[in-house]
Amino acid sequence: MAAAPEAQHTLGKPAGFSGTSLHTGEKVSLKLHPAPENHGIKFKRKDLQDEPTIDAKIENLKMVERATTIGEGSIRVHTVEHVLSALSAMGIDNAVVEMDANEPPIGDGSAKPYVDVIKRAGVSAQEAPRRFFHVREPMHIETKSGSMLILLPDDNGFRVSCTQAGPNNRFTQFMSTDIVPDIFEREIAPARTFVYYEDVEPLMEKNLIKGGSLENAVVVRGDAVLSKEPLRFPDEFVRHKILDIIGDLALIGCHIRGHLIAVKPGHAANAELARAIAKEQSRREALAVPRVVPKGDGGLDSDEIIQILPHRYPFLMVDRIISFDEGGTKCIGVKTVTINEPFFQGHFPGHPVMPGVMQVEAMAQVASLLLFKLAKTSSRIGYFMSADGVKFRKPVMPGDTIFIHAELTKARGERLAKAKCHCVVNDAIVSEGELMFTFLDK
Ligand SMILES: [Zn+2]
Repeated sequence: MAAAPEAQHTLGKPAGFSGTSLHTGEKVSLKLHPAPENHGIKFKRKDLQDEPTIDAKIENLKMVERATTIGEGSIRVHTVEHVLSALSAMGIDNAVVEMDANEPPIGDGSAKPYVDVIKRAGVSAQEAPRRFFHVREPMHIETKSGSMLILLPDDNGFRVSCTQAGPNNRFTQFMSTDIVPDIFEREIAPARTFVYYEDVEPLMEKNLIKGGSLENAVVVRGDAVLSKEPLRFPDEFVRHKILDIIGDLALIGCHIRGHLIAVKPGHAANAELARAIAKEQSRREALAVPRVVPKGDGGLDSDEIIQILPHRYPFLMVDRIISFDEGGTKCIGVKTVTINEPFFQGHFPGHPVMPGVMQVEAMAQVASLLLFKLAKTSSRIGYFMSADGVKFRKPVMPGDTIFIHAELTKARGERLAKAKCHCVVNDAIVSEGELMFTFLDK
């Protein structure tokens, strides 16, 4: 593992190859181009007017039947998983995948042709730090078709342990491997697409896989394995499953630090996990607060707070408002919890824990500041009327800094308002609740 912080990488120069597309059977050229920092992977349809690009992002996922399709508007790119797998595993963060059709060339059904192109282009380090998704808590996906994906924390790198099983558990295979460029190139990339005869027979009849042949897929019929070239590995199928997993998960746009346990994976389950990771990423972004707590611009300091709130020591539970959002419906307050808080004398001696009700009080005070800022008046006083869905998730101790998030969810007339609040310590929600207020003249 390279020493932290790892940098983003792109290609040294453009490189490509031509071949046949799997579904339409047409000739297609693919060219990989270098791209700037934080660009990510984008597909470019050179065959269409204005040469539109599609971000390789999970939000753009359109279909997961047999292969992974992404799209924006009416533009589609099919079977993106093998080229994405190669780019991701070979450590390419930023690239343009230019094609003159709606599908990359299928090559030999593996990711090897793409790895060869990447090696010809070369890998070039950039300045910006690479983006990672660190698994903090186990994540779990299970589908009706029997796929199970379990993602566990592992800060050493990305590891996949995969069990593949065919119909009636024929061709059950297991493999566990670190995903790093040299292992991927040698052990995973050459593994070819495999299909069960009973699955492809109807597609062949409907002429849906015009480019499919024994040159770019291994066909399993009963216990027999049909292919032009003999199996490249005795367990080639599980290796290809891992190849597909890496390609589908590349749609999260960053590198995973964790251990994935995959049982009978498939594109649908992989995509579901990618969606769950993307959701977790945006939840974390919502929780992210500055490491340095800013003052001044756009917030309120303690002097300004006591001009608005009637609360005083020891009952003022907010030290600073660090920011209001543009619409003025959200804000974040800060409360630094010290061992000098009077409540620690009695709650509890020898085991100081901040009372949950004090956190609710802190939420109420931050929500009041938000409401007064919106109403632009301090001539009225907000009375706290009710608290719904209050949950205390983790203890708050002396030395903790609480970030108190408040969002106005409902304002009825001039007299009633509702705010959704949560308290965050060290990137974890420690408490939450929905508070209702009424206003009276002072
Ligand atoms: Zn595949």
